[in-house]
Amino acid sequence: QYHSSLQGNSQVFSTDMLHYTNDKLTLMAELRQAISEQQLELYIQPQVDMRSHEVLAGEVYIRWRHPKRGLLTPDSFLALAEEMGVIYPLTQWVLNEAVAMIAKLKQAALVSKIAVNISSKDLLHDELVDALEQLFDKYQVAPGQLILELKESALVAEPVKAMTMLQRLHQLGVELALDDFGTGLSSLAYIRQLPVQYVKVDCSFISDLHKSDMNAAITGAIIDMARNLDLGVIAEGIEEAAVEQKLLRMGCSRGQGFFYSRPFELSGFAVWLKQWQPDKVKLQ
Ligand code: C2E
Ligand code: MG
Ligand code: MG
Ligand code: MG
Repeated sequence: QYHSSLQGNSQVFSTDMLHYTNDKLTLMAELRQAISEQQLELYIQPQVDMRSHEVLAGEVYIRWRHPKRGLLTPDSFLALAEEMGVIYPLTQWVLNEAVAMIAKLKQAALVSKIAVNISSKDLLHDELVDALEQLFDKYQVAPGQLILELKESALVAEPVKAMTMLQRLHQLGVELALDDFGTGLSSLAYIRQLPVQYVKVDCSFISDLHKSDMNAAITGAIIDMARNLDLGVIAEGIEEAAVEQKLLRMGCSRGQGFFYSRPFELSGFAVWLKQWQPDKVKLQ
């Protein structure tokens, strides 16, 4: 389809562009509406100790329940939200829901660490630290119960500002994880300077780890690097027992993926945790 329009004359091409722009404008208007009409929802995925299958934390993912298109994943609207400058208010909403959930879990004496993905743009908002402090105060939650995940690439555009913010977040006591690790271009020397506690090995290396020597080699190198730098390693995208077993042999014991649980509604996390049976994982 795309190819045939490129083969046509420029008229076809510009019509396509116009169509794309209209689509985008529509989506922008709809996204504004989504925020004001509360069509955004949060899902969560448990993170486990692969040796015992105890749950260590949960990672929150945003979703958009679009009135016509159904449930949308972030890939279809986050870049647009960033472009529209609405990502920070969106992050604030996610953080509020996440910290409220930490308090709820704590009350029920359940696992109480939650990871939230933040965008590179959020790191440029000085008020983020105060906002977090207020949330911890409001819900009586310890900062160490919140993990903030940011992509390796989040530090590229404004490295100095981003680094300053990471240091302030670290001083506040939240934990920091470098997401999608291995997909960017960070140098090892640079990573050592970041106040992060975890690196998360990207799904693209993990899903076929048991079949791809290349991906196993990359993952192995990341695990060794993390160990030498005293960082935790979290594998994401574990879909099969064989991958889990291989990761354990390689020295990585913390992970998440469809093998343990697909993401589900955040509101159901407490109930899910209560019915979770660590010893039954292989049977599920
Ligand atoms: P991420 O933080 O690296 O999250 C992992 C993604 O992999 C999630 O996609 C998750 O649903 C998916 N996943 C989990 N387990 C498996 C598995 O076993 N196999 C496969 N194939 N995929 C798995 P999702 O929810 O579509 O999110 C995509 C990205 O969007 C996230 O990547 C994160 O960077 C970003 N994101 C998600 N929620 C938020 C948010 O609230 N705020 C911001 N700023 N970014 C978010
Ligand atoms: Mg993440
Ligand atoms: Mg990731
Ligand atoms: Mg990702």
